[in-house]
Amino acid sequence: MLTCENVTFRYEKSGLPVLRGASLTLEQGQIGILLGKNGSGKTTLFKTILGIRRPSGGAIRFDGEDLLKMPRRERARRIAYVPQDIQFGALTVFDSVLMGRVAYFGLKASHEDYLAVEKILRDMGLESYARRNVEALSGGERQKIAIARAMAQEPKLMVFDEPTGNLDIRNEQLIIREAKKLAREKNISILSSLHDLNQALAFGDKFFFLKDGVVKYAGGPEIVNEDVIQDIFDIDVKMVKIDNQKVIIGGNNYEH
Ligand code: ADP
Repeated sequence: MLTCENVTFRYEKSGLPVLRGASLTLEQGQIGILLGKNGSGKTTLFKTILGIRRPSGGAIRFDGEDLLKMPRRERARRIAYVPQDIQFGALTVFDSVLMGRVAYFGLKASHEDYLAVEKILRDMGLESYARRNVEALSGGERQKIAIARAMAQEPKLMVFDEPTGNLDIRNEQLIIREAKKLAREKNISILSSLHDLNQALAFGDKFFFLKDGVVKYAGGPEIVNEDVIQDIFDIDVKMVKIDNQKVIIGGNNYEH
């Protein structure tokens, strides 16, 4: 279980705080979606969880352990990061995924590390890609490799920053399906930002809405409604049900 309690953070001593006491709880195996306007502090909150930024106050725990006191390598065995547009360098797919094992092997990969990578590529249907250069792959394929690399870390939590940002609709759905499958099969928690609310509804079990430096609303799909979206994003939307699935349509301009 991941818990953030009253996390506060500001980039500059004299600057305004970005996080003013943000709290959230994510159970093991749950998919949590962090939503909020651009600049509301989603990436900043991720960075405090990942240990890239140190909060000025509050607590971040994973399974009861204090993440703020945990050495980097220990943390990397629990938490993997999937950035929006990953740059691997000119590596093969196999070696890119193997890099995810660095927290385990340090300087030299062992036979077990190679076996672990082979298994992940097999599980994700990526065996035929193993010898290809990652740089020559499409955005959707690269994003799958980024997830495979995160998997090689054998994490309990994966943090995704806008994982479908640069993808077309087919690849968006593929990545969401793949990530959901992993969470379910391996009981991995996922914390993700997503700008598309309908994707968020299709992907998430729990939703966190960030505004004014705090998580203002948190809960299951039932808390996502027109009023909450209006408050967070300043847009008028309509929520309808299609095939028993909530769908959000519109914005301020759909009446024009
Ligand atoms: P989001 O991910 O929700 O778009 P961010 O966490 O990236 O938001 O940014 C939150 C706020 O912090 C913004 O006002 C942004 O300008 C500011 N910010 C982000 N990174 C830095 C930085 N390195 N130095 C100073 N301010 C920053």
